[in-house]
Parts: sequence; structure tokens; C-alpha cells
Amino acid sequence: MDIRINLERLRKDIEELGQIGKDPNGGISRPSFSAVDLEAREWLKDRIKSAGLLLRQDGAGNIFGRLEGEGKTIMAGSHIDTVINGGMFDGSIGVLSALECLRRIKEEGLKTEKSLEVASFTDEEGNLVGDFLGSRSFIGPPNKEMLESGRTQFGIPFPEVLKNTEFTIDSIMEAHKQRPEIETFLEIHIEQGPVLETENTSIGIVDTIAGKNYWICQFIGEASHAGTTPFELRRDAFLGLADFALRSTQYVATKHYGSMLTIGRIQAHPGTFSIIPGRVDFSLDFRSPSKETLEEIKKSLMFSANDIASTRGLEFSYVLIDKTDPVKISPQIVDMMKEESENLGYTYMTLPSGAGHDAQIIAAVAEPGMIFIPCEDGISHSPQERIKWEDLERGANLLLRLLLRLAQ
Ligand SMILES: [Zn+2]
Repeated sequence: MDIRINLERLRKDIEELGQIGKDPNGGISRPSFSAVDLEAREWLKDRIKSAGLLLRQDGAGNIFGRLEGEGKTIMAGSHIDTVINGGMFDGSIGVLSALECLRRIKEEGLKTEKSLEVASFTDEEGNLVGDFLGSRSFIGPPNKEMLESGRTQFGIPFPEVLKNTEFTIDSIMEAHKQRPEIETFLEIHIEQGPVLETENTSIGIVDTIAGKNYWICQFIGEASHAGTTPFELRRDAFLGLADFALRSTQYVATKHYGSMLTIGRIQAHPGTFSIIPGRVDFSLDFRSPSKETLEEIKKSLMFSANDIASTRGLEFSYVLIDKTDPVKISPQIVDMMKEESENLGYTYMTLPSGAGHDAQIIAAVAEPGMIFIPCEDGISHSPQERIKWEDLERGANLLLRLLLRLAQ
């Protein structure tokens, strides 16, 4: 069956949704459960209903549109929340392309054996309490204490945010019970990196999604006077971090090609001109497509940090903030994507995903698959996020083929 998506309609949807939450400071600011997100949710529900799909919503605010069949469900989707001053394509193309595919299938009157469902997951971006709140709650009960005591990144207690919504901590804890049995979950997303654009390829077939460790770390030394404390008596916490940053980055870059390490947030204390930093707090983000490599990196980081600490008279400590395992996409799904790209006459390449996505979380309950399309200069999470519409058209046509094939 050679049916194609309607790009004009899909583009109109993306542009309309992109008007909700436009930030005067640039881009789109639409964190989950904000006033503009609630407006976007109503908009999406309307679009689902007018497509003639069965609208569902679970206790975590995940929104679904269903084409009923028999047996298991084939699901596709992503998220409509954004970071502050984010772009209009991250997440939204995954939800709205899936919606367009189901709309086309319904219009053509095609009957699939299995059920098809479009999904939009709450707070993928982690503005509320850790990332992937919606997809995590979808696969099982999340950590209740985290929900009860969590604060959003805007400093508001999470239970306070829920008061503006129809959801409660209990409803989030129960959300997973409303999940149908899912066979495959597909997500189309912008690449958020430069590879596809550099290779001049519209379709990226993801073969692994990197796992990640996110730590908050500290070197503790002693604050003292910058003019009177001799070098040999200093316990300079910042220099500990400087050593560690160079050593650990060099180690990952040279020993584990394809893995990443980033120190993104740094705060020295007391943080002033004439005092040697007695403490430094920093974030540490390391990722790898391989679980074993993640473990190796972790061991090596611990060794370096403790070694540097003992040489410089410091103490090192860390708190694990978040951890996700890498996901390997099944060869059957990857092969099917290659085959359908060839049938459509599209060029493609396989690549790993360095960023986390809902598909990685849903992999716990369904076979995942991911399609990437290029974004200009690899830029995302920014008002400068751009795509080429013809790339999206190809990606969405591929998604449509896959959904039809998987639902037979
Ligand atoms: Zn996203």
C-alpha cells in the first residue's frame, strides 16, 4: 500500500502548536503543567478527536489517540513539552507525525490487525521532577518520595504544581495500570547533533540509545587567603576539579570513542577574588552506548577523583542524580527501517543516539525503534532549532510505512 503523509497538514499542526508558549525572550517555553502546556494539551486533544481517533489520557497526563484493532498495540509518539527558550521541533514532530500517520490510515479506511496509538508523554524534558516523568510513570510506578518532596527547576514544590492540573501523586502512581499491551514503540525525533546534516542524509536509523549517569560532585579542601597561603600548604578545591576535568575528559576521549563526558555546571566556594576555593561543586554527565563501558568509566572516574583528592589534600564525594541504561535497538527493527527506506527511495544511515528519549524508557515494556531527521547545524534546545520540511516528510512517510507493516 503506497500511501503518504500530508506534509501541508503536518506542517500546519507543528506551526500551530509552535505558537503556544512563544517566549518574548525567544523560542518556546512550554514546560509540562504550565499554563501554556495546559493550553497545548487541549489543542492536542482537539486534534486527536477531530482525526476521529479515540482519545485517552492516563493519570500522569500522558495523552493518547487510538485506532482500535485487536491484540497488541503499536505505538508511536514523543513529547510536546519544551525546555525554557526551546525550539518548536524537539518532541513535537514525534507526536504530530504519529498523529498524521494515524489520520492518513483512518482516512484511507485501512484496517490494521493490531491497534495503533499516538502518544504524547508528560515532562520528557525534566522541568518538573527528573526527566521522563510521563514515560517513567507509563512503564511502572515512579518513586513516590521523589514526587512528594521534589521541587521543579523553578523552585516550586511538585505537589504545588499538580494543583493547577487534574492530576495527583496518586493518579501518577497508578498511571501505568492504564497501559495497553504494547508490542513496538516508534519515535521520530530531530537528531540534536550534526551527523546527518554533514552526511547530507534525511533519515537516521538509530541502532543504540546511550545510557547516562548524572552525578553532582564535590571536592572539599580549605578556603584560605590568596596572598598569604604558600602553594605547598594550599588545599585548593578548584585545582582538584581542574586536574580531574582534564584527566577524565582525556581518558574518555582517547579510551572510549563514542562515549561522552561533560562537566557542565561549576560552582566554587566562597567564590571570590582573594580566597582560595575551599569547596567546588560540579555536575558530571557521562554517557555511553555500552553498559560495560559505562561501568568502566565509572570505575576510572572514581579512581582519578580519589587519587587527585589524596594528592591535593582534598575530599571527593558524589551523589547519583539520575541513571539510565543504554538500549540496543533490535536488528529486526533496524533492518525493517532500512528496507522501508529503500522502498521509499530515501538515503539513510545508522547511528547511535547520544541523547535520551522516551523510547529508551518505554524499551522496558516494548520493542523500541527511533528515526532521526537532521536539524540545522545540529542545534536544539534553542530558538535557533530548524529543520527542512522535506526531511520531516521523508521521516514521517517512513514512520507511516513502519506502522502499517508492524500492525498487520
Ligand atoms: Zn525531545
